[in-house]
Amino acid sequence: MDACARDVDREAKTLTELDAAIGDADHGDNMRRGFQAVTVALAEESPATPGAVLTLAGRTLISSVGGAAGPLYGTLLRRAGKELGDAPSTDLPGLRAALAAGVDGVARLGGAAAGDKTMLDALLPAVDALEGGLQAAATAARQGAVDTLPLLARKGRASYLGERSVGHQDPGAASSALLVAALVEAVG
Ligand code: ADP
Ligand code: MG
Ligand code: MG
Repeated sequence: MDACARDVDREAKTLTELDAAIGDADHGDNMRRGFQAVTVALAEESPATPGAVLTLAGRTLISSVGGAAGPLYGTLLRRAGKELGDAPSTDLPGLRAALAAGVDGVARLGGAAAGDKTMLDALLPAVDALEGGLQAAATAARQGAVDTLPLLARKGRASYLGERSVGHQDPGAASSALLVAALVEAVG
């Protein structure tokens, strides 16, 4: 979570620029506000297990971020935390099961599928690739985010633009790639 907060802070401007093209220019600010709140909450409560860390982080994102990404990432982390429980966060099959559960939560809450030009287009390939190791997951997420560029948005604000959403990378897919990379760095 520290690595996520650091990278979100560093890339907030880029994420907001991506959102300016096909949304409402707040994704970087939303993410920064959310992960700053996560940093504070974790320092205050010092959860005892990896699962409890993720659950608290998820709860905090839901309560501190107004945009679509807050409840979606919050659900991802809460579901992942519940699945992980007190298992070590470095156990690859356990980590993959936790991430899969979290990503499934995003799909259920948002009703989006692969190819709809959302964060799922980075997250779903990352879950699949995690079977091949941590680095493979980070690479797949980054590629998935880049591959949203030619897609037509079918969910979220960008979908209001119709054809005009084509030719831009989805901001949530970009932030997902960033978060997966931070996870890989921290766990690897
Ligand atoms: P808002 O659109 O409310 O301003 P953000 O800008 O923080 O929220 O987040 C936008 C991102 O959220 C999009 O780029 C997309 O990846 C993701 N998103 C929006 N709606 C959905 C959805 N229904 N399912 C999955 N992801 C979504
Ligand atoms: Mg936005
Ligand atoms: Mg917004």
